[in-house]
Amino acid sequence: MTTIIDHTKANPPPPSLYEGRKQIYPKLAHGKFRMVKWIVMAVTLGIYYVLPWIRWPRGEGIPDQAVLADFEGEKFYFFWFEIWPQELYYLAGLLIMATLGLFLVTSLFGRAWCGYTCPQTVWTDLYIWVERAFEGDRAARMRLDAAPWSFNKAWRKFGKHLIWLVIAFWTGGAFILYWHDAPTVAKGWFTGEAPLTAYFFAGILTFTTYFLAGWMREQVCTYMCPWPRIQGALTDENALNVTYRFDRGEPRAPHRKGESWEGRGDCIDCKQCVQVCPMGIDIRDGAQLECIHCALCIDACDDIMKKVGRPIGLIAYDTDNAVAARVAGKKPVYKVLRPRTLLYATLMIIIGAMVGFGYFNKSSFEVNVLKDRSPPFIRLSDGDIRNGYTLKLVNKSSTARNVAIEIQGLDGSELQMIGLETEENGEVELNMGAHRVDRFRMLITRHTEDTAPRANFTVIVRDTETGEVEDSSAVFVQGGN
Ligand code: SF4
Ligand code: SF4
Repeated sequence: MTTIIDHTKANPPPPSLYEGRKQIYPKLAHGKFRMVKWIVMAVTLGIYYVLPWIRWPRGEGIPDQAVLADFEGEKFYFFWFEIWPQELYYLAGLLIMATLGLFLVTSLFGRAWCGYTCPQTVWTDLYIWVERAFEGDRAARMRLDAAPWSFNKAWRKFGKHLIWLVIAFWTGGAFILYWHDAPTVAKGWFTGEAPLTAYFFAGILTFTTYFLAGWMREQVCTYMCPWPRIQGALTDENALNVTYRFDRGEPRAPHRKGESWEGRGDCIDCKQCVQVCPMGIDIRDGAQLECIHCALCIDACDDIMKKVGRPIGLIAYDTDNAVAARVAGKKPVYKVLRPRTLLYATLMIIIGAMVGFGYFNKSSFEVNVLKDRSPPFIRLSDGDIRNGYTLKLVNKSSTARNVAIEIQGLDGSELQMIGLETEENGEVELNMGAHRVDRFRMLITRHTEDTAPRANFTVIVRDTETGEVEDSSAVFVQGGN
C-alpha cells in the first residue's frame, strides 16, 4: 500500500512577508491643531500657486518675475536677490541652512515638518478634504466603499477624482511657471507655443500629485520617504513629540457617566485618536515610525476629555524625559538649550553670516581670462611673442558701464583687443552692457629677453566712473613645449 505524504502539511509555506494595504478613513478632527493645519495649508498652497505671478521690475531687458529660475538667461531671481551661475555656492549655503533648520526644528519639536508643512502632508490633507466634500466623513466613506456600485456612488467617486485631477493639473502647471515667464508660458500653453519641457514637467507633476496624494497617501511617508529614518538620529529624549501620557491614561477602560475615576486612567478607550489619524496608527502604542506628528490625535482626545470632564492634554506635545520624571513623581524639566540644538543654531548663524557677508559684499562685475590652448604662443617675424586669450566680462548691475582694461606685471608687452582701439597709455576702453556676459578676443604681444618659459601677469579692469576694480591673473607662454 502506498502512503501519500502531504508535504504542504508537513512543511507549511512560510508566512507571507507582504501585507496588503488597509484603507484608512481619517475622521475630521476639530481643535486648535486642526485649525493650525488649515492655516498652514492655505498659506503654503497660496504661496505656491501665487508666487510666480508676482511681478518685480528690475530694469529693461531683465525678467520682472519675483521668483524665477531662468535657465535661458542662466540666473536665479528671488525678489531683491539675483544669483548668477558662478554664485551657486550661495544657493548651496542656503540649502545647508535649510537642512540645519530642519535638524533644529526636529530636535526641538519632533517631526513638525512632516506634520504641518511637508508637501506630501499638505496635498494629502487637501485631497482628503475634497474626498470628504464628495463622500462624507469617515463612517459615510466606509459605507460608500462597502456599498455596491450605484449612481450615487458613481457620481461621488467621479466628482472626487475629477477635482483631484484638476488640483493635480493646477499643481503641475504652477510648477513650470517658476522656470519661465509665467504670463508668457501660460498663454503659450494653450496655443501650443510653450516649450516641450513645460508640457513634460507639468505632466509629471500632475501625475505624481494625483498618484501620491490621492492613492499612495500614508504609504509615501511610511515606505518611500527617508526622513522618518533620519529623524531617529536627530531627536532625543528632550525633543517635544506628540505623546500619549500613559502615566495618566493607564489603566485604560470604557467609562460610564457618573462612574468614579478612582484607580483607573483617564483613557476611556474610545479610539477617537485612532480614527482621526491619517496614518491609521494608535498613538497609545508609543513612538512609531509612521507617526508624522500632525497632532490631530491631540485635538480628538482633548475633545473627549472635555466631554467626560477630565483635564485636556492626555495626548500632548511632551518629552520622554518629562513623562519619565512624572512617573518617578518628580517635576518635569524641559530643556530647550541642549548640545545638539546649540550646535545646529550656531552652525546656522555661522553659515548664514558667511552667505550674507559674501552676498552683500560681492562685486557687481567679474573678470575672467582664458588662455588659448593651441597654439600656446606665436613667434612673430620680428622676434616678438604673441599669446591669445578670451576675456570674459560679467556685468551684474542693471546699468551699462564703461571700463578700462590694462595688464600689469608683464614688461615690454602690448595689449590688443580685437575690434577695439588701444589708447596711448596702453589701456583699452569698452562698454559693458547691463546685466550681460560678454566675451572679447584679447592678444598680448611681448618683446622680451626673458628666457623663462612662462610669466605671470594680471589683467586689471577698472570702472571709469565708480573706480571699482576687478582683476584676474593669467599666464604668458613664451617658450618651452
Ligand atoms: S498618531 Fe497622532 S500625531 Fe501621529 S500621525 Fe496619527 S494623528 Fe498624527
Ligand atoms: S482619544 Fe483619548 S481617551 Fe480616547 S482612546 Fe484615544 S487616548 Fe484614549
